[in-house]
Amino acid sequence: MTLDSTWARRFVERAADTVSENRTALVELDREIGDGDHGENLERGFSAVRAKLASQPDDATPGALLKMVATTLISTVGGASGPLLGTAFLKGAGALGDATEIDSAGVAAFVAAARDGAVLRGKAEVGDKTMVDAWTPATDAARAAADGGSEPAAVLRAAADAAAAGAESTEPLVARKGRASYLGERAVGHRDPGAQSSALILAAAADAADDVAAAATTTSGEA
Ligand code: ADP
Ligand code: MG
Repeated sequence: MTLDSTWARRFVERAADTVSENRTALVELDREIGDGDHGENLERGFSAVRAKLASQPDDATPGALLKMVATTLISTVGGASGPLLGTAFLKGAGALGDATEIDSAGVAAFVAAARDGAVLRGKAEVGDKTMVDAWTPATDAARAAADGGSEPAAVLRAAADAAAAGAESTEPLVARKGRASYLGERAVGHRDPGAQSSALILAAAADAADDVAAAATTTSGEA
């Protein structure tokens, strides 16, 4: 089953929900190795995104909806994560183009372009203890799943699971980018907040695909 704008809308809602549910946890992670604002920064951005969602035209494509997320995050999120995650969404949306249906290869291309956007903007490499440590394994897992013939929802789930493992993998690292890099060895033992939030956002994308599939099953069951 391909993904369409119903999925994209649901993704945006679920991303806003998960950011709000995890606001305190993200603030606490950022308090350990940053300035304690990551949860607030993202909540401000995603509540602005949620507010704009209702006024998007009915025929908005997934790419157009996710581009709205990008520009809204860039303009409303203070802190490093706004432009970084915003550029990830911008490049990811660009990879979707004006397609109305996204297949498995399209999902993998979305995740890869989002990772490339974050790298373009922040110049971090894997192992620098940033959100790139979530997006890169997600990209690899999505590509492998798509190449292996998985459905789009399963490609997103593979990406989300790999991102969660990637976020966990930041714990033993010394940070080489962002505020946490000022801490040197003191960052060791703490998970990177941006990697954690990126994993949550990819999980929201996968959950949204499951929602859409469940709704389709219910509808066809009733028919
Ligand atoms: P700030 O650091 O300005 O307070 P946030 O707290 O919102 O911004 O976001 C911090 C997160 O941004 C970090 O946890 C990290 O994942 C991400 N980050 C910071 N610098 C970079 C970078 N150069 N490349 C990729 N991600 C980065
Ligand atoms: Mg911060």
